[in-house]
Amino acid sequence: MADQLPETLGPLLREAQARLAAAAIDDPALDARLIVEHFSGTTRTQAIADPERKIDESTIAAIFDALRRRAGGEPVHRILGYREFYGLRLSVSPETLEPRPDTETLVEAMLPFVRAVAVQEGECRILDLGTGTGAIALALLSAVPAAIATGVDMSAGALATAGRNARQLGLAGRFTALQSDWFEKVSGRYHVIAANPPYIPSEDIGNLQDEVRNFDPHLALDGGADGLNPYRIIAAEAARFLETDGRIAVEIGHTQHDEVSGIFAAAGYMPGGAFRDLGGNDRVIVFERTKP
Ligand code: GLN
Repeated sequence: MADQLPETLGPLLREAQARLAAAAIDDPALDARLIVEHFSGTTRTQAIADPERKIDESTIAAIFDALRRRAGGEPVHRILGYREFYGLRLSVSPETLEPRPDTETLVEAMLPFVRAVAVQEGECRILDLGTGTGAIALALLSAVPAAIATGVDMSAGALATAGRNARQLGLAGRFTALQSDWFEKVSGRYHVIAANPPYIPSEDIGNLQDEVRNFDPHLALDGGADGLNPYRIIAAEAARFLETDGRIAVEIGHTQHDEVSGIFAAAGYMPGGAFRDLGGNDRVIVFERTKP
């Protein structure tokens, strides 16, 4: 019952942590803090400086409900409704993958190129295929004022979330949301074509962690029989939309480096760099065109 939760900040945090620990949640202290701070609008400093601070009844009820959902296995960022990505707070929705730190690797890999193009050309045009929350495009836009981006997704719900994120970050003037099945509705030429496509082989979806399998949209995970279909589509169709000196950057599953490289090599692309995530796994490959 909600009224069994303590009404002051310090004890409330301890009880929240105890309930998540009892439910065998991985990091009960962190998740308790995220939930209590989010719903009560308090900060960590306040919790330390003012543990006797009184929390009102409706806030306690919201925290109770959030703890119940978390204890039931719902990812904490789905409950909060946002996740930090590259220092940006991005709203998530049921139609979007939760942005992951692994994907920041792609942003960092492409940033020097985006900056260089912006300086040389006065503008860098980015196409983000399967944009979801808009994470990749919005992170690059936030870092490079002369960049503009089109975020493509099949899902209208995902695009609504991406558009909302662009507005919340003050980037809407440089971000266009486009509903399209890969390149179907895309026009124009881009200096960067980026994608974190679905790359899990269909038959492996069932083996993903519960929090991924039950809460991330399968449209954003399922890459077909061998997980590589999106790379085949991008490799086959990107040339018409890529500037002569443009680059393609794709996130990959950690075992897919050689296969994905092979797909792009066969389509006439040169390797332009491979990058590991913070866990040391192969995560991003960049390709350059070999011919105009
Ligand atoms: N990295 C994600 C996961 O394993 C998959 C994301 C994707 O398919 N693009 O949960």
